[in-house]
Amino acid sequence: MTTNTESKNDQEVVITLRNMNKWYGQFHVLKNINLEVKRGERIVICGPSGSGKSTMIRCINRLEEHQEGDIVVDGVTLTDDLKNIGVIRREVGMVFQHFNLFPHLTVLENCTLAPMWVRKMPKKEAEEIAMKFLGRVKIPDQANKYPGQLSGGQQQRVAIARSLCMNPRVMLFDEPTSALDPEMIKEVLDVMVELADEGMTMLCVTHEMGFAKKVADRVIFMDAGEVVEENEPHEFFNNPQQDRTKLFLSQIL
Ligand code: ADP
Ligand code: MG
Repeated sequence: MTTNTESKNDQEVVITLRNMNKWYGQFHVLKNINLEVKRGERIVICGPSGSGKSTMIRCINRLEEHQEGDIVVDGVTLTDDLKNIGVIRREVGMVFQHFNLFPHLTVLENCTLAPMWVRKMPKKEAEEIAMKFLGRVKIPDQANKYPGQLSGGQQQRVAIARSLCMNPRVMLFDEPTSALDPEMIKEVLDVMVELADEGMTMLCVTHEMGFAKKVADRVIFMDAGEVVEENEPHEFFNNPQQDRTKLFLSQIL
């Protein structure tokens, strides 16, 4: 896999964070974040627990609100009045650590729910699309089971398929493999690598550094609510500049 940040330089920007700040009450959780993600870029975000990675990802799809600065997603500026929330939810797919599937719905129903209710797609078409993506994540045979009947790795692949059914322009991943047993991590990472290879714009919070080396165009290191360092993966891992980055890498590698 080559890093192709250069060829993406003149491409359309899909996500912009400009001088973005967020507080939880008095606690300044995100400090002046600047980030630009171009179409087709794969970005890995890492950093110690509590550094603000989830909060940043959640601000991008409006699960959390920021207080200062701008967030622009696919040309839509996220504002206080939540007018744009529908657009963002349609365009941005999100995969969480704990899958967040609906337990009382089958795998297929989990996948068809949003296309039918948000995109007003006829059931038959939604089911065809769902089966296509369940095939892509290699579990079409599980379509009529309930999430509780599947392994963690299978549930996470359902969660990815469910997001893809909405035809998102960007996929956000928040530690998608950290709740999985080791033998299931690879089956989820393989699906993510395939997505990356197909050109999906991806922002992934993960500590799977093998994944970062393989697919990331850029790795971003956060600590205490700040972007401390960012670089293409080879430089990031072999030549970290900041002491905090060096310390973090020495702990996880
Ligand atoms: P990370 O994903 O990097 O582990 P988080 O974004 O989850 O970090 O959390 C960043 C900081 O914000 C932590 O100190 C956490 O305790 C705090 N925090 C997260 N969510 C909330 C919340 N809803 N209310 C108050 N503080 C929060
Ligand atoms: Mg987190």
